[in-house]
Amino acid sequence: MSANNEIKEIQYDVVVIGGGPAGLAAALKADQEGCSVLVLERDNELGGILQQCIHNGFGLKHFKEELTGPEYAQRFIDMIGQSNVKIMLKSMVINLTPNKIVSVINSKTGLFHVKTKAIILAMGCRERTRGAINIPGSRPAGIFPAGQAQRFINMEGYIPGHRVLILGSGDIGMIMARRCILEGMKVLAVSEVLPYPSGLKRNQVQCLDDYGIPLYLRHTIIDIRGKERVEGATIAEIDEKWRPIPGTEKHFDCDTILFSVGLIPENELSATAGCDIANNGGPNVNEYLQTTIPGIFACGNVLQVHDLVDWVTEEAEQAGKNAALYAKKELLIPTLETCRSVTIKPGTNVGYTVPERIDDLTSEKVIKFSYRVKNPRSNIRTQIISKGKVIYSRRHKFVLPSEMININAKLNPEDVGDEITVNVTEKKQTINIIEKTMLEGD
Ligand SMILES: Cc1cc2nc3c(=O)[nH]c(=O)nc-3n(C[C@H](O)[C@H](O)[C@H](O)COP(=O)(O)OP(=O)(O)OC[C@H]3O[C@@H](n4cnc5c(N)ncnc54)[C@H](O)[C@@H]3O)c2cc1C
Repeated sequence: MSANNEIKEIQYDVVVIGGGPAGLAAALKADQEGCSVLVLERDNELGGILQQCIHNGFGLKHFKEELTGPEYAQRFIDMIGQSNVKIMLKSMVINLTPNKIVSVINSKTGLFHVKTKAIILAMGCRERTRGAINIPGSRPAGIFPAGQAQRFINMEGYIPGHRVLILGSGDIGMIMARRCILEGMKVLAVSEVLPYPSGLKRNQVQCLDDYGIPLYLRHTIIDIRGKERVEGATIAEIDEKWRPIPGTEKHFDCDTILFSVGLIPENELSATAGCDIANNGGPNVNEYLQTTIPGIFACGNVLQVHDLVDWVTEEAEQAGKNAALYAKKELLIPTLETCRSVTIKPGTNVGYTVPERIDDLTSEKVIKFSYRVKNPRSNIRTQIISKGKVIYSRRHKFVLPSEMININAKLNPEDVGDEITVNVTEKKQTINIIEKTMLEGD
């Protein structure tokens, strides 16, 4: 607060909320367009979740090199250092208004407001916790979301326990299984409720198979024991209705349980500003990655949970450029009130799509669609349907829920009605082929 007790207000053309890979790539693009850009990051360093991901596997597409998370982040931090982008660390955004006033709290300067022409939401996502999935048993210490355990080990130098059971075979769970082994812990098993691993195949091979860690598919935790600290847990096989099958129980003497049961886009601020939130938890955006509020854009994990950071960078560059052009009044996006908005609906076997709508289809143009399937299938097609006709089609050798699909479809306004449906059409049930592929290797 300033000396006269008035809350300070500053101005920038573009404000980016979040200094992870999405925020940094978006900020650089907006800077290249000649805008004044401010990045607000609540943590005490830039890089977001990448700083705790010390394994390799980042950047194969963007840099054509295999980097660790911190190395990938550092490339962008160095570029930011060469740019005019202003960074404010330890600065937590606590409120957003639809007329683009950003309220920020900083440990040194206190509360201040930033007035801006365009905002880029890049707040990432958070982990789903035990409470969100209703696991029975007592509530002792020793139960952690896998990403939190990753932060303890990789950034703060603590190990969470000695004998570990992991629930969920998402990428974070599998990467943490290997990490725990490398730090001298014993990983007793990974239990997965689905009939296939929910993370990438390469992580199953490199993080579980290579270390002899058993993976129990179609299993869930039915009991956790211990008063002060976890003393054990029981998993059991489940039937089609996800009910435990009596007689299939397996007991583990563990002192630690890691939950890797999904990520939730961090959108409380977006909702406060009045942005509509879509079914996948991210803001509803159009083909410019603009939310339902003019001048507020979104990218990265806050928009959709990405499997690869390279896709985050690509999406963020698009959002950064669009936000800058909007701030400079060089991109006139029709408003929802005036445009003929086309709704994009997830159809057969599609969980969600980004964008959720097209607001500016007056001539033929290429629209980038990102989406994930609900179930693994092989030898099938993406079909985009409007007015009862297939207006785009593409074949896939196989599709997996763990892998985001990106396509560029050229659409003609004459072929498009008020709605578009994206189907990943099932010609036949091929789940066993996929399961076989997933278990035997790509
Ligand atoms: C465990 C794990 C392993 C992964 N492994 C790989 C891999 O091998 N290869 C690969 O390509 N990808 C991998 N990924 C995916 C990739 O790391 C993410 O997709 C990417 O980091 C997402 O970037 P982001 O900028 O959207 O979000 P984040 O990196 O989460 O950044 C968001 C930032 O916003 C800040 N923030 C949030 N709210 C506020 C607020 N109110 N005010 C100010 N700041 C705020 C946060 O502090 C954070 O720094 C992995 C992800 C995880 C979690």
